[in-house]
Amino acid sequence: MRRFFLSPDVEISDEVLLSKAESHHLTKVLRLPVGMLLQLFDGRGHIHDAEIVAMGKQVRLRILSSVYVEEDGVPLRVCQGILKGQKMEFLLQKCTELGVSEFIPFSSSRCQLKKTELRKLADKQDRWQRIIDEACKQCNRPWPMKLGTVISLEEMVLQREEARPGILFWEEEKEASLHTFSLPADVAGLQIVLGPEGGFSSDEAEAARKAGFQVLSLGPRILRAETAALAAVSIIQHLIGNM
Ligand code: SAM
Repeated sequence: MRRFFLSPDVEISDEVLLSKAESHHLTKVLRLPVGMLLQLFDGRGHIHDAEIVAMGKQVRLRILSSVYVEEDGVPLRVCQGILKGQKMEFLLQKCTELGVSEFIPFSSSRCQLKKTELRKLADKQDRWQRIIDEACKQCNRPWPMKLGTVISLEEMVLQREEARPGILFWEEEKEASLHTFSLPADVAGLQIVLGPEGGFSSDEAEAARKAGFQVLSLGPRILRAETAALAAVSIIQHLIGNM
């Protein structure tokens, strides 16, 4: 069943009006007919089954039934060194699909973006949020992944919450790995950190270790940043029972 985003500000009564943007997608792109059934979600856990009753700049829908889905599972926060080009957008989409609860982009010494590009990253927040919202729609996720603003590696390391074990995946770590990692029994959340294309310097890995992060290897091969992120998220989500 097709899903559309309904702003959480819309008061739910027998009938609701879809936003102009979503109405345009429904009428002009998908060309759905009156009478068709679809789902509405508000990104706050509410999911409504609805029927199209009238077309227009704002499509009118009759609410047939509503459910509320609690946010569940152990939250996983992914901190990702800023990547070039489309790779960040790819990771935002995949981390949403994989159930990551929060995504924090950070800049570090080996980020391969120029200073001017780093300064412009704030302009990408809206686009990045749209990618998350679209991925939520596609994967039927009632609560969107939270997106943080870009911070520095130093700030990110300092922000690690005591109650939330942190893992920094370092390509130069030779000893410790997920095989040696034991998940605390009643873990309330987990934070994983992955580097940019240029990786982490020894000083950065050391600073994270001092701040209480476990520094682990993902095996003997050097993975592309986006491969490492997907592999680490998939393994950890399985370990904490979200996949
Ligand atoms: N510039 C580095 C090099 O060529 O050695 C590679 C960095 S890798 C492209 C980007 C990030 O992916 C790393 O900082 C790390 O977080 C993660 N990563 C890739 N391979 C890894 C491995 N074998 N073990 C742990 N982390 C890895």
